[in-house]
Amino acid sequence: MEANKVKQIVIVGGGTAGWMTAAALAKVLKGQYPIRLVESDEIGTVGVGEATIPMVQVFNRMLELDEDEFMRRTQASFKLGIEFVNWGKLGDRYIHGFGVIGQDNWTVDFHQYWLKQYMAGKAKELVHYSINTAACLQNKFVRAQPDMPNSPLSQIAHAFHFDASLYAKFLREFSEARGVERLEGKIVEVRCREGDGHVEALQLQSGQWIEGDLFVDCSGFRALLIEGALKTGYVDWSHWLPCDRALAVPCVSASAEITPYTRATARQSGWQWRIPLQHRVGNGHVYCSKYISDDEAASVLLSNLDGEPLASPRPIKFLTGKRSKTWNKNVVSIGLSSGFLEPLESTSIHLIQMGIGHLLTYFPSAGFDEADRAEYNRIMDQEYEWVRDFIILHYKATERTDSPFWNYCRTMDVPESLAQRMRLFESHGRVYREGNELFTKISWLQVLHGQRIRPKSYHPLVDLLPEAEIQSYLEEVEQVITACVEVMPSHAKFVAENCSSV
Ligand code: FAD
Repeated sequence: MEANKVKQIVIVGGGTAGWMTAAALAKVLKGQYPIRLVESDEIGTVGVGEATIPMVQVFNRMLELDEDEFMRRTQASFKLGIEFVNWGKLGDRYIHGFGVIGQDNWTVDFHQYWLKQYMAGKAKELVHYSINTAACLQNKFVRAQPDMPNSPLSQIAHAFHFDASLYAKFLREFSEARGVERLEGKIVEVRCREGDGHVEALQLQSGQWIEGDLFVDCSGFRALLIEGALKTGYVDWSHWLPCDRALAVPCVSASAEITPYTRATARQSGWQWRIPLQHRVGNGHVYCSKYISDDEAASVLLSNLDGEPLASPRPIKFLTGKRSKTWNKNVVSIGLSSGFLEPLESTSIHLIQMGIGHLLTYFPSAGFDEADRAEYNRIMDQEYEWVRDFIILHYKATERTDSPFWNYCRTMDVPESLAQRMRLFESHGRVYREGNELFTKISWLQVLHGQRIRPKSYHPLVDLLPEAEIQSYLEEVEQVITACVEVMPSHAKFVAENCSSV
């Protein structure tokens, strides 16, 4: 055990990662440790990151935020899933919805019964058997109805699209009200201690020194402490995820409808996101600079907007991968300083949340312990790798041959962990979830199928049930879901009546 007990916590950075960390530590540690957060107005934040997954609800609940108030303050809309356009093949369209498909009370997974009928041309696409995706198709929304346990309405799983800078502002108020001290200024020097090399103080441009025992590096792509000071190293995954740039631009929405889903449209050398908020639509083009110039990428983005752009496209450069150790010495990196996986499945804010949760689990209150650090790093490596494999699947499993970018992705080698999942699904449609992995079997199923991987057969135990019984069961599931969606209000109406910011 290293001697130094944590007495003071310093968070570097006031983006989404910094203020989420500050809010969570302030809430959970209940003022036992002084917490200071340093951010630079001159440097600013990355300013993107608007789509989330349902786990963010757990974070907001932990802070005891009122959901309607949170939505009003961040101009948020609800999100039931992601629509993928042109991924498996030009003209393709599928939805990866949150929540469940069918019911899981059968001998084998619901989708195996569906698969048998689908292969025989007797079942519809998966979207019709999930309340989340069926609601997406009609722009409908309602929160899950727990008082109707036998209805698909109890199974709705939602996340949010929100303005990340407003979320950071909201959490800043929350944190300051609980004692977090904010210091504005640019850090120009980091001092490490002789001997163990721990970071011990930061100097601002004003000359002020800020001392601490535990430093949380939320400085974004700059990675000021974890890399700048500690030279931790980076694991480069760009051979699997070759996109290295993004252009982001908001636009006014041309329609009064607010889609309750994110759209990810594959382009010639990357993909474009569309994220509807209450007051605007966020858009961006993620692309690979080896295959398309910045000017061409901007033109693709601007010619595929739903409405008038509200600004010029803002460029962002990145390298996909993760820090070799997300916790090194007395520095824990959270957010973009810890790594970056492109936002195709809206997982960055989730990884921030995981970083915070695991930091609290291994909080070094009694001093720094190598066993704690090693476990934290092992778990975060796993979190990153699970998400990495899932994202690579979208690129690898494609039939597109229309550009050098897609030819590269289609023919590249993938991690063995992913290759095994693909082989397993190709054989008998089997999917699995590893340990506490973020993505469920149903998530894997929707993307494997959506990306056109077709199993050779279905699970053999399905044949124990008469086909007519399977068919009528599938039809019943679909009919009940259709009837439920029918009575749901439109997403725009639900937002206007419950959590509108105007
Ligand atoms: P930043 O927002 O960059 O904040 C860094 C902070 O550090 C700033 O306050 C800055 O002032 C401060 N700082 C840096 N250097 C210094 C210094 N020398 N002195 C003082 N302060 C300093 N995530 C999702 O979950 N969903 C999405 O849809 C999504 N889309 C994305 C799209 C793109 C193109 C990108 C790049 C990211 C996306 N993300 C998304 C990720 C998300 O934006 C980030 O995870 C999130 O915003 C956290 O950023 P951050 O706080 O780590 O860094």
